[in-house]
Amino acid sequence: MKILVVNAGSSSLKYQLFDMDTNEVLAKGLCERIGIDGSVTHKRPDKPDYKANVDFPDHRAAIECVLALLTDKEKGVIASVEEISAVGHRFAHGGEKLRASAVLGADEIKYLESIVGLNPLHGPPAISGFKACKEVMPNVNHVGVFDTSYYSDMEDYAYIYPIPYELYEKHKIRRYGFHGTSHRYVAGKAAELLGNKNAKIITCHLGNGSSITATVNGKAVDTSMGFTPQDGVPMGTRSGAIDPTVVTYIQKAEGLTAEEADKVLNKEAGLYGVSGISSDCRDIREAAANGNYRAKLAMKILCHNIKKIVGSYVAEMNGVDAVVFTAGIGENDRDLRQEVCKEMSFLGIEIDEAYNQNCPRGEIADLSAKGAKVKTFVIPTNEEYMIALDTQNLTK
Ligand code: AMP
Repeated sequence: MKILVVNAGSSSLKYQLFDMDTNEVLAKGLCERIGIDGSVTHKRPDKPDYKANVDFPDHRAAIECVLALLTDKEKGVIASVEEISAVGHRFAHGGEKLRASAVLGADEIKYLESIVGLNPLHGPPAISGFKACKEVMPNVNHVGVFDTSYYSDMEDYAYIYPIPYELYEKHKIRRYGFHGTSHRYVAGKAAELLGNKNAKIITCHLGNGSSITATVNGKAVDTSMGFTPQDGVPMGTRSGAIDPTVVTYIQKAEGLTAEEADKVLNKEAGLYGVSGISSDCRDIREAAANGNYRAKLAMKILCHNIKKIVGSYVAEMNGVDAVVFTAGIGENDRDLRQEVCKEMSFLGIEIDEAYNQNCPRGEIADLSAKGAKVKTFVIPTNEEYMIALDTQNLTK
């Protein structure tokens, strides 16, 4: 069974074609600058990457190009579009109603359109991407996989904010959580490694956007991102959790509109805001190694906040069986993992520091020190595979 996974952004469309019988990615790529001019990068494991400028007036033009490449005699991997059994679409937000991955019909799309206000950046392009794919491939099932749905079983006290309850009722202001597909994937892998479906697991997805999730019995019980992906740990350019009054205070002190204050906290804060150097962890590490105070401070703030959330989730779950690091920073920044796990032995978290510094990249690694009560793993995330798997399960 071959499944196409599509992730449509406002000016981009990422794709991966999976062979679910062999668990292989047959081809993947990225259409960029949709609505501007357009370019495509198409990758096959056995051939050099193909790159070209192609005019993409809209998402439909992009998906037509993808299908032409996938079925091309030289660059392609399938003989015809009919070989694609189903399409999985990534949606950042499924609101309160789309509590699990679902085959997308008229009702689901109507609901997704009704909640774009909750998700103004990612919602509209994801819906356009879906509609374009549905037009071009009308005869197969299209499945929506929602980043928020992993959090659908959280208790009300974990998702209702202590603000007037009417604001929740009127505007649906609550904790939704994001990156759920990644947390679900790595928590599932960790449970497999532990041989315990009921395990208590803390997953740290640390990338350009970062979130931490607590999972018990395969269900998320709490997560650091909230109403939007702004909450929780500091990120590339997002502040993460701060005293909410800072927002109105900087508006008044700097004479900013709500939109401008939002931009400061979303685009000019986090690692970039503190370091003044870059939102990219590698650049900050380099500056820190050269003695830059603000670069060192940015990394210390990040580690401090990760540790604080991990500790709070241990308390919330009354223990932890495994801590998992994933995504760009979690999978690659060895010093960050060492810093976060340092002085956590009281909680049973202890890593083999030498192995942490030397374990192979891009693979699952067990960093736990000999005899540590809690396992610490690095598990490369694979959201696309999770989307393909849900799509297969809902359509086979
Ligand atoms: P992601 O959003 O998952 O692609 O992660 C992007 C983040 O991972 C950026 O901040 C990168 O700097 C960081 N990253 C990637 N490779 C490394 C590395 N070798 N060391 C430290 N950070 C890295």
